[in-house]
Amino acid sequence: MTLRIVNPATGALLRELETTTADQVAHALAGARAAQGAWATRPAEQRAAVVRAFAGLLQRKLDALAAIQTSETGKPISQAKNEIRALGARIDFFLENVPKVQRTEPVHSEPGLTERITYEPLGVVGNISAWNYPWFVGGNVFLPALLTGNAVLYKPSEVAALTGQAIGELWREAGLPDGVFTTLVGAGETGRALLESKLDGLFFTGSYATGRRVADAARAHMIPVGLELGGKDPAYVTDDVDVANAAAGLADGAFYNAGQSCCAVERIYVHERVYDAFVDAFVAEVKRFVVGDPTDEATYLGPLARPAQIEVLAAQIADATSKGARVLLGGQRRAGGGAYFEPTVLVDVNHDMTLMKEESFGPIIGIQKVSGDADATELMQDTEYGLTAGVYCRDLARAEVILQHVSAGSAYINCCDRVSPRLPWSGRGHSGLGSTLGVAGIHAFVRPKAWHVRG
Ligand code: NAD
Repeated sequence: MTLRIVNPATGALLRELETTTADQVAHALAGARAAQGAWATRPAEQRAAVVRAFAGLLQRKLDALAAIQTSETGKPISQAKNEIRALGARIDFFLENVPKVQRTEPVHSEPGLTERITYEPLGVVGNISAWNYPWFVGGNVFLPALLTGNAVLYKPSEVAALTGQAIGELWREAGLPDGVFTTLVGAGETGRALLESKLDGLFFTGSYATGRRVADAARAHMIPVGLELGGKDPAYVTDDVDVANAAAGLADGAFYNAGQSCCAVERIYVHERVYDAFVDAFVAEVKRFVVGDPTDEATYLGPLARPAQIEVLAAQIADATSKGARVLLGGQRRAGGGAYFEPTVLVDVNHDMTLMKEESFGPIIGIQKVSGDADATELMQDTEYGLTAGVYCRDLARAEVILQHVSAGSAYINCCDRVSPRLPWSGRGHSGLGSTLGVAGIHAFVRPKAWHVRG
């Protein structure tokens, strides 16, 4: 089969790629199995040296790699560069912490008996990835997986297939032995072939709907699984804030990468005492965003990566307005070519509307007035998802109490849409299972072996 790669900003065909067939997936798995043992038994410092070479190439080729990502996903070039640059910090974190996690752990010693734990790689892991941050979400898996001695079969999203191929080439250039990392090209069909393969671990980033299939496959094969799924991330603005500061932070959190971030702010609740001032400041912020050609360094908001998402956004807006919501800004597809959607702000929204309940994954946001902390907490909790939740509040203790009552993997106080390599990234409920990043995100790629030694 052929995969057509189309530029979402122009509709132009960029490339046609042959997809990886089920037979080729099986062949890649055999190659990975053959290569993994030798990779795992290399001294850890040699694996680290390959990853350092990868990091060097990444920074040297940054402009070209960012341009590839922008061409196929429509991400503004400055944001594509930010992503690749920031991958460096994640690499540094893994280089520093993998040896600590994989160090042999003596746990007990008495005359004639020692007990210790070693941490072995899982073996060959599958990594099915999303397109919105291909370097981040791919890297969260393949970096710790490779450093701990695993081999990786990497299936990037069909929307970021050129970036996926570039990642494979970079590993080759960095000196990774053949078979240790293979990029598989294709959409759901290639993904399904990978799910049917006999892997030792499955790591997925994408939607809840596909994540369920991945979970089923992992259960059938009895292998570890990591799922980084979607979100409907809330933020609450209390009555003691600096309104302008909160509006600027949240507008960026909602609209960066055209709202196509797993941890994008997807719904905002504002205390009634500051509601009017906040809405005015928020709309003023959004009006400042430069929408346009993603190859232009000045552009903040580009097209949607998947034109089909325009229908989802339009349906959420139609549903909301039919139930009483008001559109303060935007509200439709932008005229002219390309898959652009106007940055859109709605008010008078409530939880009967899909806008406030289902993932939008686009440049639209609903702002709801609340009577106080209890009201806001209840609404933030009214979701199947649990990726992140944020509170803007000068009183840090008050914000902490609110967030203790919200079930989410990450809690933000006076910030949002933020990921740190040092902290575990995890979703609850429909937002996923397991963690990437942080020390927990290294443990995900190893399994303990318990040694009982007499003598
Ligand atoms: P998606 O579920 O459509 O696709 C994800 C991957 O699964 C792609 O590589 C796709 O080709 C593959 N796939 C599709 N059908 C498959 C099947 N039947 N079997 C196996 N593989 C299959 O998601 P997407 O549109 O690429 O990404 C957007 C979603 O990802 C959003 O919900 C977003 O919130 C989520 N996301 C989450 C995180 C996180 O860290 N939690 C990060 C980025 C994106």
